[in-house]
Amino acid sequence: MLSSTTSLSNDELLQVLSLSKDATAIYTGHDIKILFANDAMLAFWGKDRSIIGQSLIKAVPELEGQPFFKMLQDVYTTGVTYADVLPAQTLRDGTLQTRYYDFEYRAIKNAEGKTYCILHAASDVTEVVLGKEAMERAREQQEALEREQALNEELMSSIEELTSTNEELQLTQQELNRLNFELEDRVATRTADLQESEARFRAMAESSGILIAVGDESSNATYFSNAWTDFTGAKPEDLLAFGWANYIHPDDRERYVNNYLSAFKTQEPFSGEFRVSDTSGSHHWMLAKAHPRYKPDGAFAGYICTCVDITEQKELEQRKDDFITIASHELKTPLTSLKVSLQLMDKIKHDPSNAMMPKLIMQARKSIQRVSALVDDLLSTRKLQQGQIQLNKAKFILSQLLNSCANPIAITGSHKISITGNLELEIFADEHQVDQVITNLLSNAVKYAPHSGEIRLEIQDSEGMVKVSVVDKGPGIAPDKIPHLFERYFRVDESGFHATGLGLGLYISAEIIKRHGGEIGVISELGSGSTFWFTLPLGVD
Ligand code: ADP
Repeated sequence: MLSSTTSLSNDELLQVLSLSKDATAIYTGHDIKILFANDAMLAFWGKDRSIIGQSLIKAVPELEGQPFFKMLQDVYTTGVTYADVLPAQTLRDGTLQTRYYDFEYRAIKNAEGKTYCILHAASDVTEVVLGKEAMERAREQQEALEREQALNEELMSSIEELTSTNEELQLTQQELNRLNFELEDRVATRTADLQESEARFRAMAESSGILIAVGDESSNATYFSNAWTDFTGAKPEDLLAFGWANYIHPDDRERYVNNYLSAFKTQEPFSGEFRVSDTSGSHHWMLAKAHPRYKPDGAFAGYICTCVDITEQKELEQRKDDFITIASHELKTPLTSLKVSLQLMDKIKHDPSNAMMPKLIMQARKSIQRVSALVDDLLSTRKLQQGQIQLNKAKFILSQLLNSCANPIAITGSHKISITGNLELEIFADEHQVDQVITNLLSNAVKYAPHSGEIRLEIQDSEGMVKVSVVDKGPGIAPDKIPHLFERYFRVDESGFHATGLGLGLYISAEIIKRHGGEIGVISELGSGSTFWFTLPLGVD
């Protein structure tokens, strides 16, 4: 509270206010008439005291287009004080300048609350604002810088990452290259291995001499071993692409080819027999065995087929079959005869003096002899086969044995028999078995050379061995049959000439001679007779 002694007049008060550093002005009326403006405010405006009493907009025309005048009018009308920091453009040193002002338009009201003037206080905060702005900018710049830095760092780390990824990529690439080379190596090794194993297989296949054929999954032949081309005389390309079927005997072809083709449906192992003609055109029996082949992934790849020449086996089988038929027949003939003799004897048994009786007994004895001879042959064969025959060697005069063998024939008078050579020769052998050999050769001569007239027996000795020959003047033997004469069940069945026999005599003879360490053979020519001979070690000093 001011005391009366210190109270000031209005002029004094205005005087004080005009000295205030804070710019101050007082307005009134809706046209914002300037009642008072101190020096500082006048300086803001760039005006002098002459403007006092004028409307602000007239006094400071630079404010035209700026919001302040309107704001003052609003404060005056509404009575609501307004304060803010805003830029304003005013004349300074003759130029229009923008400066910032922290200002207040305070509505001064009377007792009724009606605004009668506005107190305008303002301070120039341009430096502060600009400073703030500068700081703000600096901060923004700083932030931008930081952002840039962060981005830079991010970029750097991305670059680093990229670099290391690149390095990794390069390493991976190197590793890939290395693996690739390794793989190429392995492929090369594997290919070499495969080529080697194929070459090995081929070498094996070729050197084995086995007839080998390979077919693919579509039944096309892809390989024939040399043995096939050697055997058939056909070029490999002729055998491939089904050419092979042409070399199969026509009677066996369809059956085997059907067998072969249907196997591709089941893909199971199969076998079959067929005849194939060789280079000379003669047929050989083949036993084919085919096994399925598989690819590494387990898929069916076709067949590999090996063929074995089973001609000999087939012939032996055939002979065996024939032998069974013949043996049954051979046994049946004397047995039938024996049966008939016995039936007749039965009829006349109450009349032993019947003239038929001695004939029937003779007939029965012959039949029995024939049966037992056949059975003997069969048993000998069996024993020889099983190696059960023992040699019971003893010394004996060979000519005497020949003589006793020849006697029964001489008695029949069918042939004249002569024995020549060293009649004194003594040998050390199984007499019974040598007897069997000589009997066989003699009875064959009688049987197969019925018109020979003479049968010559010759004894020749030299260097510890003796050679016995049985010579007849019979029909002789065809050259192609000779190599088989001493085989089991072999019989020469010439048409128009049939003699009884099991095809065992010569086989048994040969076995006996071999066991004694000797040899057996034949010299024969069709039409000039045959000479069957054998040798034996003398066995005596
Ligand atoms: P088989 O018991 O059938 O007589 P062999 O083994 O004794 O059997 O004789 C075999 C074959 O040799 C006979 O089927 C016959 O054709 C022939 N053969 C044997 N000896 C003579 C011979 N002296 N003259 C002509 N052929 C003979």
